[in-house]
Amino acid sequence: MYKDLCFIDDLDIKGKRVLIRVDFNVPMDDKGNITDDTRIRSVLPTINYALDEKAKVILASHLDRPGGKRVPELSLAPVAKRLSRLLEKDVRLAPDCVGEEVKRMVDEMKPGDVVLLENLRFHPGEEANDDEFGKELGELADVYINDAFATAHRSHASNVAITKYVKEYGAGFLMKKELTYFSKAMEEPTRPLVAIIGGKKVSDKVGVLVSLCEKVDKLIIGGGMALTFFKSLGYEVGRSFTEDDALNKAREVIEKVRERNIKLYMPVDFVVADRFSPSAETKVVTYQEIPKDWMALDIGPATVTLFSEAIQNAKTIIWNGPMGVFEIDAFSRGTFAMVTSVANSYALTIVGGGDTDVAVHRAGEFAKISYISTGGGAFLELLKGNDLSGIAALRRGKK
Ligand code: AMP
Repeated sequence: MYKDLCFIDDLDIKGKRVLIRVDFNVPMDDKGNITDDTRIRSVLPTINYALDEKAKVILASHLDRPGGKRVPELSLAPVAKRLSRLLEKDVRLAPDCVGEEVKRMVDEMKPGDVVLLENLRFHPGEEANDDEFGKELGELADVYINDAFATAHRSHASNVAITKYVKEYGAGFLMKKELTYFSKAMEEPTRPLVAIIGGKKVSDKVGVLVSLCEKVDKLIIGGGMALTFFKSLGYEVGRSFTEDDALNKAREVIEKVRERNIKLYMPVDFVVADRFSPSAETKVVTYQEIPKDWMALDIGPATVTLFSEAIQNAKTIIWNGPMGVFEIDAFSRGTFAMVTSVANSYALTIVGGGDTDVAVHRAGEFAKISYISTGGGAFLELLKGNDLSGIAALRRGKK
């Protein structure tokens, strides 16, 4: 998974121009204030290491989806300011990410300087993985480091094409941490290994579920996707969210579970509501009793007990996807109860995916989770057993 990769501390970067691809795609409010700087903080170890080595540090990131054109509201200026505060040193924002002016700015850099390039996605070449754009970026650097785990599954110029145009390249410390934890959980797990998969879309996660069947000892399926599974088995699910074109896929997963002789845990009760609303009338029913006009929006208390018991002797737990519509208080108990169970277990616990991460933080339990991945899509790709394009590119030309 990662043992054949070259990392920043394997390379001689002293005094060199080091371009680090980071993920500074931080959430901002409508006044342009950063509301959560976790993504910036998570790459500080790599940036600080490069600064300690007296490298000339050039940072490259995207922000949101400007669609290949300059959108002033999506400038990385607020990030440059925040980073400057975190590093306690001047961070200069380049007027663009490529071009003559940027080249001049980089030429003038001294060891220990930091320049943040402007939003990569202001150029269509970034998302198109355009060779010419990758070349222009690559020409800014002697060494390229990819530390943007959350975007590593995308074939974009700043993590794929660029590697053809720099002499030396490798991965950063965040990437190393992500891959190390992932590999501890999925490649050399201490068993029993239990996966908890929730969220609503079976279609997004069928590949994950099939792949997990090859590895886990127990599989727990909760959240909205459990309803698609129940429907595929012929149960009444009322007006619950289901994906009718994924019923066959759900059956395939069940078949695979049987084939592999894995223990499968599904909800035994649900919190149902008469409508999708915080003020809906609600009640708890068993999985065989979902009324025709109601919808199941959370797992019930008996399910929480069942799932919590199922993870009790686990030595490794991997979790993606909430157990219900946790954004609404009335349907959040199942997810928060599972956060508590996972947080209090003695297992190595790894949580991935934006929603699950939010739930763990809202419950105030993040410190008790062994590792919270910074990547949603990238984490799911790894769970599917796929290599990430950005990592494959680093591996391809290992020097
Ligand atoms: P996903 O992107 O597939 O991980 O789904 C996450 C979303 O699933 C969250 O926004 C939850 O509100 C939603 N969700 C979880 N359980 C249910 C449910 N029973 N019915 C509808 N949506 C759900």
